[in-house]
Amino acid sequence: MSHVLAAVAWPYANGPRHIGHVSGFGVPSDVFARYMRMAGHDVLMVSGTDEHGTPIQVQADAEGVTPRELADRYNRVIAEDLRALGLSYDLFTRTTTRNHYAVVQELFAGLHRNGYIVPRVTTGAISPSTGRTLPDRYIEGTCPICGYDSARGDQCDNCGNQLDPVDLINPKSKINGETPEFVETEHFFLDLPALADALRQWLDGREGWRPNVLRFSRNLLDDLQPRAITRDLEWGVPIPLDDWRDRPDKRIYVWFDAVIGYLSASIEWARRTGDPEAWRRWWSSDAEGRDARSYYFMGKDNIVFHSVIWPALLGGYSGAGDHDGEPGALGRLNLPTEVVSSEYLTMEGRKFSSSRKVVIYVRDFLERYDADALRYFIAVAGPESNDTDFTWAEFLRRNNDELVAGWGNLVNRSVSMAAKNFGAIPPVDPAGLTEADEALLATARAGFDTVGDLIGRHRQKQAIGEAMRVVAEANKYLSEQAPWKLKVEADKPRMGTILHVALQVVSDANTLLTPFLPHSAQQIHELLGGTGVHAPMPVLEEVDDLDGGPAYPVLTGDYTVGARWESVPLEAGRPLAAPKPVFRKLDPSIVEEELARLAG
Ligand SMILES: [Zn+2]
Repeated sequence: MSHVLAAVAWPYANGPRHIGHVSGFGVPSDVFARYMRMAGHDVLMVSGTDEHGTPIQVQADAEGVTPRELADRYNRVIAEDLRALGLSYDLFTRTTTRNHYAVVQELFAGLHRNGYIVPRVTTGAISPSTGRTLPDRYIEGTCPICGYDSARGDQCDNCGNQLDPVDLINPKSKINGETPEFVETEHFFLDLPALADALRQWLDGREGWRPNVLRFSRNLLDDLQPRAITRDLEWGVPIPLDDWRDRPDKRIYVWFDAVIGYLSASIEWARRTGDPEAWRRWWSSDAEGRDARSYYFMGKDNIVFHSVIWPALLGGYSGAGDHDGEPGALGRLNLPTEVVSSEYLTMEGRKFSSSRKVVIYVRDFLERYDADALRYFIAVAGPESNDTDFTWAEFLRRNNDELVAGWGNLVNRSVSMAAKNFGAIPPVDPAGLTEADEALLATARAGFDTVGDLIGRHRQKQAIGEAMRVVAEANKYLSEQAPWKLKVEADKPRMGTILHVALQVVSDANTLLTPFLPHSAQQIHELLGGTGVHAPMPVLEEVDDLDGGPAYPVLTGDYTVGARWESVPLEAGRPLAAPKPVFRKLDPSIVEEELARLAG
């Protein structure tokens, strides 16, 4: 048994999330966490909303609300969406808690003490009307290289060159059109070059990573520059150093604070359980030779933060790097075991875009379709290791031909026939099992090793494919054995045996599919006459801030209950529930309706 940290990317709280977001970080991390718990590991799954930074400040200004009010609104929307999808967070919190502020400041102070944070005077753009840092991508002007007139401050989309906003001709703020002022300003920088060797050594020891992630991360090390970690902005975590702490105009840069969320959320979770040190079991391996593993889930645009920046922060804080140093009060902290990055999902051949309305938000999706229908699509056709396209036609086909006609049909016909003829799980004929019976049972039992191993190695597409192969074998078995033809009384014992075998395989396949389809797994467990929790679900709870800040909602749950990753023999005579369909067949007209919505 290991301690397994499932660290899930933090959604930015400037709007509702669309299905592209949850197919990258949400569902895959939940499948993994659910499987690891079922297999007996001690899992801690944490995340929250990322709420600081310029985009939220800009949007709040535009709407005439405070950044906190804007973040409050979308924190709640996002948490509710993730709950409805059944994502089993131990704690889904936010970056505006006082606990988070304290942990961010502790890491900043520790890195500073060890010499990995250095001050620098730079030329930066500020908005003359607000005095705030104007981030590069909010500045537009003419490219000094190719003359393209809408080049961004950080790069030109026409010639592809990286730019410095100070070199743009005729720079303008994209927020309000004013000409930015370039001023000398003092900021803190993370001394990444001093951590490059330690990072390289760590990356060299990684095993089992997706090769593209490892290659991409190694390449980043070849050109590491010191990176600014503070901004001129009022919305963010204050800088915990004398003469800086009380300055209203300087804050820690949002990306620095957001990645620390994995640690602060673990600490918050521990404090809420009443054992404030419990988080260490997932973050430090050196005590008692403990096996603590950490898996980070995100889309590919976030790899750099998880395979370079976050390990650099953890290493520097722990005293590993060219400047050495001592671990801070939180002790030596583990670097990621694996960075699990997904590719992009597109929508009907186009990039998701909220502004161009190429989008379907999670809550809109779940108003019209079931959570497991989406989870199934993401598992079988999501962007695990290639960019993939979501189309309504393909969603319809996967739902109707595979989920309903494959898995749903197997459950339906075996439960209905057994309920009608026996009212309970039928017994096995004393004459025993045939070769075909034994073969099918063995196929289902073997699935536990195969499917489990694949999920453990983040091959979820293959994993659900194997589980669905068991389903297909069972459907084939039922067609061949044709229990419905065994109508005379003398054939009833054989009919009972066939249905017993079929129901046992339904039960096993249901367990194999539980990490992917937890909502329907609970229903199928009950159809088979099972009681109690089979697939535990998250709950949204209002909690007080632990340190006196405003109250907020968190996602949490009791996941110590539920099915184990094993075949459980069905007891003959156990009453079956009244059969009812678990999955909904969709009318083909939804494709045109959805495409019209998209166009409309
Ligand atoms: Zn250009």
